[in-house]
Amino acid sequence: SRRGLLYGSAGLAAASLAGCGEGEEAAQLTGFTGISMPTDTSERWVIEGEALEENLKQLGYEVIHENAKGDLDAQLTQIQSMVDRGVEFLIIGAIDNKSLGAVLGDAKNQGVTVISYDRLILETPDVDYYASFDNYQVGVLQATHIVERLALKDNPGPFNIELFSGDPGDNNSQYFFMGGLDTFESYIYEGKVRILSGQTEQEPTATVDWSGEVAKERMDLLLKDFYKDDEIHAVLSPYDGISRGVVEALVENDYEPGDDFPVVTGQDAEAQSLKAIKEGTGQTETVFKDTRLLASTVTDMVKALVDGGSPEVNDLGTYDNGFKFVPSLLLEPVDVTAENYVEVVVDSGYLTEEQIDAGE
Ligand code: BGC
Repeated sequence: SRRGLLYGSAGLAAASLAGCGEGEEAAQLTGFTGISMPTDTSERWVIEGEALEENLKQLGYEVIHENAKGDLDAQLTQIQSMVDRGVEFLIIGAIDNKSLGAVLGDAKNQGVTVISYDRLILETPDVDYYASFDNYQVGVLQATHIVERLALKDNPGPFNIELFSGDPGDNNSQYFFMGGLDTFESYIYEGKVRILSGQTEQEPTATVDWSGEVAKERMDLLLKDFYKDDEIHAVLSPYDGISRGVVEALVENDYEPGDDFPVVTGQDAEAQSLKAIKEGTGQTETVFKDTRLLASTVTDMVKALVDGGSPEVNDLGTYDNGFKFVPSLLLEPVDVTAENYVEVVVDSGYLTEEQIDAGE
């Protein structure tokens, strides 16, 4: 079986590392793991990298942990060095999902088990597992927030909405975007929702590097080009950092925070965005993904393999990386607004009220 093959090859790598000769019994995996995180500008990756490192070390495994800080070449070098140092497992949050083929080929030759972390790595057969959240559902939650805030079901409209998608090199972006677009589709068809820019494809709506600055610039242009005589009622934003850029542009273009401010969505439950949600000074929604749970789930995957078992997965047919459907473990994202942030974010210990009030 695929799994047998996988485990067999990982066992072989460990054996050669331990210097076992032919015919000798394959050495036990030790759990030696390389963690490669993509960026430190969005908080979650820093927190998760640390959580993963700590979890794995608690199990007694050796760990190399790097954050490539948005630099693709740095990420490739870091992963290559992990492979050269003999890791048995790689946990990778990719900067660019299509650029890892060569280094993962090397990893595979050494029997490394590759876990694609949160973002699916594409166009290589050498990915063994994928652990993430239901990314399509993230977009559905965001768009549903807009549908509900504008009461689109009962209101003839028309309402003007603009769409933002995430970094085009991140496979998640298209899932967030499709979830949003599908949710709006019937309202667009009925004429209740209008997108005055006509920008409804992933490319023109993309936000390189998930950058708030890039988003702010595009929002500003949209307002100047298409909303001179019309009001904008909502903006679908896929990530809190982007949302804050969008809000800044709206404010600079004379939209006043408060009840009539355009509805702006988000993702990741960042402190600064939760502060705005709590105080009613910007975006009104974010999507909470319990990244602590993702980190512990991936730790469990590694442990299962070290213990000679197989990791738990719950989806075998959604995430096609161009070579195969990668066995996936998907967690549930949760919609967060002023009404439930205490229960979801604070009571669960993810952030304190103090951190939210401080916005950091
Ligand atoms: C993650 C999001 C995050 C974004 C920017 C995506 O791949 O799934 O949670 O907001 O990257 O870091």
